[in-house]
Amino acid sequence: MTVGAESLPAQRGVAVVTGGSRGIGATTAVELARNGWDVCLSYRTDDEAAAGVLARCEAAGARAVAVRADVSSSADVTALFAAADRLGPVSVLVNNAGIVDRRARVDEMSPERLERMLAVNVVGAFLCAGAAVRRMSTRYGGTGGAIVNVSSAASRLGSPGEYVDYAASKGAIDTMTIGLAKEVAAEGIRVNAVRPGIIDTEIHASGGQPDRAAQVGPSAPLGRAGTPAEVAAAILWFCLPESSSYATAALLDLSGGR
Ligand code: NAP
Repeated sequence: MTVGAESLPAQRGVAVVTGGSRGIGATTAVELARNGWDVCLSYRTDDEAAAGVLARCEAAGARAVAVRADVSSSADVTALFAAADRLGPVSVLVNNAGIVDRRARVDEMSPERLERMLAVNVVGAFLCAGAAVRRMSTRYGGTGGAIVNVSSAASRLGSPGEYVDYAASKGAIDTMTIGLAKEVAAEGIRVNAVRPGIIDTEIHASGGQPDRAAQVGPSAPLGRAGTPAEVAAAILWFCLPESSSYATAALLDLSGGR
């Protein structure tokens, strides 16, 4: 399903934000809209939440579309970027869609769980990055752009006894950030990652731990969980060429010192 606006030229171009209907992605989409991007966001299930984010982007003066697209499906990713193309030239990708699963040890994880975790968190990010590079790269006639991957502090902490599969998927995202950044640096594309710690969003409830931000947040040196706005501000910084023109292959920890 696709809802939203049609034509008119873009200013900074189009930002594709995966998982833009809730949490960090939703706040980032609105922040990009406020800073001159038209926004194409993806989500998986929550039509109402996506419509709410569209309304906030439009209130900020941007054109916005929301596409129900599972990032682990190459057909859905094709449809997502086709919708973005209809808005204008894509200049930003925020690879934000991600999932966790229930607390488990590695020896308790089913093959189905592992395949889903890697399909969404890793394959999805690769599919979207490939689609973005084919649009932004000077090699393909594009004018450059920025890719920001949403990794996690889990990639260096490992999440033992909780979700090592998730942590490892974010390790893959860190490595992809570094490799892709070097691969496309001469083609006008900067690729960076943010690595949030405990951020107060609904992702913890989806992993069966709705109170995780309140419970674990205070153990960070800064004494609290972070907010989606604090992560969105860093993502925006990586998107703005005037702010971060010399940053590529960077992994920025946003974990309150954890
Ligand atoms: P969230 O509140 O659970 O929101 C997840 C978003 O991703 C929703 O818009 C959801 O759409 C979408 N989504 C889920 N699976 C998808 C799929 N297969 N295809 C497309 N969209 C999908 O999550 P969040 O806390 O904002 O997390 C965003 C990113 O930050 C993730 O990559 C996560 O790993 C990372 N992160 C979060 C934290 C934290 O503490 N919150 C810490 C470190 C890193 P629907 O609602 O329609 O399903």
